[in-house]
Amino acid sequence: MRIKLAGGVGEHGRNCFLVQGERLSFLVDCGKMAGAEQPNPYLEPEEIRSLSHVFLTHSHADHTGALPWLEEQGFDGIVAATPETLSQLKQMPQRTISLNEFSPPDGMTLKWGRSGHCTGSVWYHFHLEGRSLLFSGDYTEHSLAYVADPIRDLHADLAVLDSAYGPETRSGPEMRQGFLSEAAKSCGQGKPLVLPVPKYGRGLELALLLHQTWPGLSFYGDAHFIRQLDWLRGDQAWTTADIRDQLSDLTVEPIPESVPETGVLFLSDPQLRDPRDEGLARRWAQFGGLILTGSVEMGTGSFRLQRKGYGTFCRIPVHCTDQEMLALERQNIFRQVIPYHSAEHPQQAVWIGL
Ligand SMILES: [Zn+2]
Ligand SMILES: [Zn+2]
Repeated sequence: MRIKLAGGVGEHGRNCFLVQGERLSFLVDCGKMAGAEQPNPYLEPEEIRSLSHVFLTHSHADHTGALPWLEEQGFDGIVAATPETLSQLKQMPQRTISLNEFSPPDGMTLKWGRSGHCTGSVWYHFHLEGRSLLFSGDYTEHSLAYVADPIRDLHADLAVLDSAYGPETRSGPEMRQGFLSEAAKSCGQGKPLVLPVPKYGRGLELALLLHQTWPGLSFYGDAHFIRQLDWLRGDQAWTTADIRDQLSDLTVEPIPESVPETGVLFLSDPQLRDPRDEGLARRWAQFGGLILTGSVEMGTGSFRLQRKGYGTFCRIPVHCTDQEMLALERQNIFRQVIPYHSAEHPQQAVWIGL
């Protein structure tokens, strides 16, 4: 068996891993590198045609954005993911199956667990052809909003682990504290704050954190953000009863006509690609603060605002640091580890033989 690192190792984006066995060949994730001239995974046409499945860890574009390209290139296999991940995809693949209904092909066993990164996000543990493989997906055990099934006591010949935060030395709670110190400059001073957030993931997490810190704070959000909050409140699978209780305490109003004196606005447009969102974020930032919590892509609204001195970047714990990745290595038995999702860990060999 061999594994091809088809993207996402030594770079941030385009996450894609090809597992090529004697009888089975499949991908874990098929992401796109935002802003790259050649944004798709490094896969040859014959490799694409031989695939039976693509297993998605979650819906974010750096894990799923190249699926339409894959189908254009002749992929006619099945895309397997949680129902939540499938429902979040921008474009539905031709053939899909929910992990809840998936029975692995002969010779494969598959175990998966929640990875704490967003609704629908999972890690995978495969057994096939006498080998075992672990893919953490984007993984955190620190989420305030999403439950994780910790990766523990598993054996794998190869583990591909999230190390997106690389040498970052702060713990999850310390990163959160850093975000709150920045937010205090607006929320603690009676000024407005605007937060561009991904469609699925850390937005609700930040709302919970801000609500815990400043219980009287008003929240505003676009229709998508409000729908996500409503959805998670009623969800039993990705949150706990305690989280649902906290979520039921949150009130999020639609975006007001003019910038209020105080309060937090959530925009489900992390790069502020929509010119209306960029304009809105600028107006709010002129009166208060703008905090960016994900990597900013060149040429986007977030990029322009940051260049004009509006946005401050704060990392919050939705991925692993190197230290957390090393902890996973200690808590499991992994023969070989490939850190992914970071430029900090380039890998010489594209193919790994097992
Ligand atoms: Zn992600
Ligand atoms: Zn990712």
